[in-house]
Amino acid sequence: MAAFKTIIEPFKIKSVEPLGFTTESERARLLAEGGYNLFNIPAAKVLIDLLTDSGTSAMSAEQWAGMMRGDESYAGASSFYRFEAAVRELTGLREVIPVHQGRAAERILFELLGGKGRVIIANTHFDTTRANVEVSGAQARDLTVPEAAKISVPYPFKGNIDTLALEGCLRELGDRVPLVIMTVTNNSVGGQPVSMANLRETGRICRDYKVPLFLDCARFAENAWLIKQREPGFAGVPVRDIAREMFSYCQGAWMSSKKDALVNMGGFLALSDAALAKKAREVLIVGEGFPTYGGLSGRDLEAVAIGLGEVLSEEYLSYRIRSIEYLGEGLRKAGVPIVEPTGGHGVYVDAKALLPHIPPRLYPAQALACEIYRLGGIRTVEIGSLMFGRKNKDGSFVPAKAELVRMAIPRRVYTQSHIDYVIEVFGELARRAPDIRGLDLIEASEHLAHFTAKLAPAAP
Ligand SMILES: *Cc1c(COP(=O)(O)O)cnc(C)c1O
Repeated sequence: MAAFKTIIEPFKIKSVEPLGFTTESERARLLAEGGYNLFNIPAAKVLIDLLTDSGTSAMSAEQWAGMMRGDESYAGASSFYRFEAAVRELTGLREVIPVHQGRAAERILFELLGGKGRVIIANTHFDTTRANVEVSGAQARDLTVPEAAKISVPYPFKGNIDTLALEGCLRELGDRVPLVIMTVTNNSVGGQPVSMANLRETGRICRDYKVPLFLDCARFAENAWLIKQREPGFAGVPVRDIAREMFSYCQGAWMSSKKDALVNMGGFLALSDAALAKKAREVLIVGEGFPTYGGLSGRDLEAVAIGLGEVLSEEYLSYRIRSIEYLGEGLRKAGVPIVEPTGGHGVYVDAKALLPHIPPRLYPAQALACEIYRLGGIRTVEIGSLMFGRKNKDGSFVPAKAELVRMAIPRRVYTQSHIDYVIEVFGELARRAPDIRGLDLIEASEHLAHFTAKLAPAAP
């Protein structure tokens, strides 16, 4: 097999779903009616939906069979024990607590370890992580490496934490830091991986300062595969062993299983500290459910247990990461500037570089996302000033650090011809780039404005 260079989808299709075909004039009307906000477009009117990779995976025949086996007993369901065994085997952490999705684990963890005066340090907090840290009264501090800000430079491990800065912070803050977080892959900087060397060094620093290290491991398998591909010394190591080594440096982990567990809903919190786990289960019972189901059905627990095994298949991971690279290569050839290198779960287009004539206050990335939808029925998401920009008290506009359009690729859902189509649409769009106009913000709520904002085309 290794003699052939084509990397194929490592599955065949048993059940299909139709795509949402529409005309360009219909899409133009939907955009105007939806306030130029793609969250307001009904999914049935989207041809290729690259809004998110979260909860959008296609499950396998084995997972669907597991759903039928699901034990729905309230307490001590056999599905829970299979789930617990799968998480223990992967993470090496004994205390396994199921939750309905990643943010539920975060809410429980920071209710126990956060609080006023505390500082939580991470390579980068994902949005829901930051929100849960801040709701607890604690402060969230990101120590992202400076390479991550250089959009066009293909540094292999942009997800890393700045270990010098970490040591400095721990020295300065002492026991005000209850835990350090490594998000793998680092979602907020573009699904970029963390290297094993960086995890190892972070583990050493945390041990020296007696602070537990936690993995926010939504995309642990994609991170492990990128270590295998990019880090010297790992090419011949089975990806399962790489994943186990990643977890060997941490004392706790939580997962949004809607990503690398290949399911549509689920999550867990896993700990080595039995006393902390006891407290976590007390909080769990109040908000999620009894400790052997924690907000999930027995059938969901089964699907996660199976998915955690399937995601570590090397055939799957090589196809997965190759399909992301393939999209990146196609866009590059079509003259579309992207965040380099491509990461684990998607490709990020640099709208500032593609549309230099649109200033940040007219939301170039949102304008681009709307045009991609209008032209090709492709839904993406803006990660720029609509999401992260803000207004000062005097009304002046503070733009985001970058204006990006993210194409997140659902797992096992689209085939190569779908991706070829996306590349073709983008190529056409790149030719029309000088004609694309910015958008005025008409209406926005104070928090998480991008979900509900309304915009309109700016005057030429
Ligand atoms: C998605 C995600 C979360 C939150 O998980 P939900 O399942 O959406 O609640 C937390 N951290 C990371 C890195 C994520 O990607």
